[in-house]
Amino acid sequence: MAKSPKCMVTTSRRPTRKLQAGSATRPSSADIEDLATPGVLAGPALAAAALRLGLLRWYDTHRRDLPWRFSATPGPEGREKRAYAVWVSEVMLQQTRVPVVVDYYSRWMARWPTVETLATATQEEVNEMWAGLGYYRRARFLLEGAKQIAEKGEFPSTASTLRQVRGIGDYTAGAIASIAFNEVTPLVDGNVVRVISRIFAIADNPKESSTVKKFWELAGQLVDPSRPGDFNQAMMELGATLCSKTKPGCSQCPVSSHCQALTLSHENPSIGVTDYPQVVPKAKPRRDFAAVCVVQIAQGLEQEMAAGKCNLFLLIKRPEEGLLAGLWEFPSVLVDESKTDSLNRRKEMDKYLKQLLDIDVKRESIVVLRKDIGQLVHIFSHIRLTMHVELMVLKIKGVVGQVCNKGQDSMKLKLVDESSIDSMGLTSGIRKVYNMVKAFKEKKLLDQSQIPTRKRSRRHE
Ligand code: SF4
Repeated sequence: MAKSPKCMVTTSRRPTRKLQAGSATRPSSADIEDLATPGVLAGPALAAAALRLGLLRWYDTHRRDLPWRFSATPGPEGREKRAYAVWVSEVMLQQTRVPVVVDYYSRWMARWPTVETLATATQEEVNEMWAGLGYYRRARFLLEGAKQIAEKGEFPSTASTLRQVRGIGDYTAGAIASIAFNEVTPLVDGNVVRVISRIFAIADNPKESSTVKKFWELAGQLVDPSRPGDFNQAMMELGATLCSKTKPGCSQCPVSSHCQALTLSHENPSIGVTDYPQVVPKAKPRRDFAAVCVVQIAQGLEQEMAAGKCNLFLLIKRPEEGLLAGLWEFPSVLVDESKTDSLNRRKEMDKYLKQLLDIDVKRESIVVLRKDIGQLVHIFSHIRLTMHVELMVLKIKGVVGQVCNKGQDSMKLKLVDESSIDSMGLTSGIRKVYNMVKAFKEKKLLDQSQIPTRKRSRRHE
């Protein structure tokens, strides 16, 4: 028999945000049995069916038109194409907002329209395409996963077999299996967590494993047996649009009659639907400090100017494991917070260039210019990195190209001219550094051009 929503109001679903600090979070016993349509003598199965119907009807009318939401052509090839599109788009959507993803997705698909074509790409090409999206590990997994699938010769079609592909977790497996292969399987992402926690008024910490498990169970019980892919997309769409974090549009919501958070909010003005899910404070990011040296090789400037090969910059490939694995960056070295003064940073940088890259700045080059440019902060998911940026213009004694043959095995060097660096895929942090240096150089040029000619020539005397 369906339970009255009122019953749940008073027993177990009050948001913990309203409780005293230190109060124990009450475990949720939410179940599909708790679903009810107020005022209607309906059992949970009927209530669930009504919820599905309402949500799917709303989705059919209101869903956004997105490039990865296309109907698969009949047959295995069409389904695999759809699966690949879902995979790429879902991985990108884990990184950023829909409008940004649309651009990245379109460029990606134009270059690698199938999983087989992606499998032939290099890591460098994939990184370049991914540049700016962050979390480059996901791009690496996409490539590794594509190779795995191409080698096998067929796209896995169930959530359990998809999970065996490198980088495909529960969420992506659920998305691909339900959307492309119509498997009746759920998915849970941040949007679904929000919708479910409000429908069932779940006040528990959504990050705790027992609560996560509960969300998956409920999503599994709710998923529509005949249109699982559309249902899963509808749940995400509702969370991404109407059931937003701070301003949910409950009056237009297709599942408002099932929403226990809404019922609670009507019964008790001190409770709002936005109290669900519980807001869990984020852990403070680690504070790191780095000396970043943009090394510009000035040699050969005049001869190469005509070919557009002036201003060569030294880039270093990061190790294949760890943060920003395998990506190119300007020479960077982490420094202690207490040693971020110019003298210490330069000492550390010189040591780095000498010991790790085998470049003795003083012996093997003439330093034409060495100047602190400023600081930049770049936020990673768990690190707040302050970068102290300097520009060093060098004239190498000897053959410039030999610089790239130095260094340890785990690292690679390359010299890139200004026009290439403008167009290559750099991480957003490195791009910020480069733009900062560029702005500094432009300002310097402007300042010089504004010095009256006579004064300027005197200065150079
Ligand atoms: S009624 Fe409001 S809070 Fe409840 S699911 Fe709909 S939009 Fe979200």
